[in-house]
Amino acid sequence: MLGRMPLKAVIIVCDGMADRPVRELGYSTPLEAADTPAMDYLADIGVCGIMDPISPGIPPGSDVANLAILGYDALKVYRGRGVFEALGAGLEVRPGDVAVRCNFATVRNGVIVDRRAGRLDCRPFEEALMEVSKRIGPDVEAVFKHTTEHRAVLLLRGYGLSRMVSDSDPHRTGAPVLKVKPLDGTPEAGRTADILNGLSEMYMEALKNHPENERRRRQGLPTADAVIFRGAGQLPEIRSLEELYGVKSAVVAGNALARGVCVSAGMEPIHVEGATGSADTNLKGKAETALRALERFDLVYVHVKGTDNLSHDGNVEGKVRMIERIDRQLVSRILDETSLREVHIALTADHTTPVSVRKHTGDPVPIAVAGPCVRRDDVKRFSERSCAVGGMGRIRGRDVMPILMNYLGRVGLVGA
Ligand code: ZN
Ligand code: ZN
Repeated sequence: MLGRMPLKAVIIVCDGMADRPVRELGYSTPLEAADTPAMDYLADIGVCGIMDPISPGIPPGSDVANLAILGYDALKVYRGRGVFEALGAGLEVRPGDVAVRCNFATVRNGVIVDRRAGRLDCRPFEEALMEVSKRIGPDVEAVFKHTTEHRAVLLLRGYGLSRMVSDSDPHRTGAPVLKVKPLDGTPEAGRTADILNGLSEMYMEALKNHPENERRRRQGLPTADAVIFRGAGQLPEIRSLEELYGVKSAVVAGNALARGVCVSAGMEPIHVEGATGSADTNLKGKAETALRALERFDLVYVHVKGTDNLSHDGNVEGKVRMIERIDRQLVSRILDETSLREVHIALTADHTTPVSVRKHTGDPVPIAVAGPCVRRDDVKRFSERSCAVGGMGRIRGRDVMPILMNYLGRVGLVGA
């Protein structure tokens, strides 16, 4: 009877949630210190383990970590971050397109004094830069899109483009806007660098006397004088989850990068009002949206970014509170409203971000999966250490999807 049920899965990925023992917490990790009855219940009734997003000791960026959790050989297929930001921003990206991440920056006397132009909303500049972008040339198309605060994405479409170009963002203040350089000897890289340098000049010109900058000057606010580029990328050459496993899948994520990675795997992005990609995100709304999506999709990927932001800030208390809020408003809600006779629920992190280090590290993360097909183990709590003795043992990020899809009966036989 069980075999006939249309089995489904939810995977909840809390960005950078895993941590190391923290002195201020009596050498507990934030997950161990937090009161998490729902996560613990999931671990208790499920099968647990620890997971190396890429491989032991390798600190991954969120893009490769999420690609790995979706089952891909991330280091092999990864072709730059910009493309995920563009997909996350809702742009359509085709094979051959190149996308870069953009910041609006404040420039004084030829050097950048603020790489984020005061973090002010730069949407008022979008229209002017979109117009300017149209003038770049007959055989290349450029689409400029503002995303949040001082951030934007730029998509190039045309023949002979390459992601192998350097950043114009010097990644520090006190330096000028850099010339984009080709990173290999191909004509494509040279051509792409020329296009980006051309756009860089045109944007500076368009920003110079923009009314929004006039207003900022009058009010003594940081102006947006240049658009600086980084992280050129192209689509990873991957087959979608639907092609690989025959599942219809959706992603619920406030964070554009995570959403973009999932969209590159063919997942449908579902918008949640108030899902901000930071600590104040609308977790209840995410839970409701995920539950509704589960009616239409076989697999729903729920991503929560706030835990990683707080880890980068070194905010121990904030991280503990955020984990508790995820437990009450998201995990508990999904557990309550889902039949574990039909749905598998997986909970994990995309990597470890210790509050003591404030950067991603290569430590493994805990993972728990509950549902009708799992072999329950003896683990009773969801944490880095308790899950280490679980029945799943130690797996890699790219094992997660086959493990879930096997429970759903979606993995074909190897051999005969
Ligand atoms: Zn991450
Ligand atoms: Zn991070």
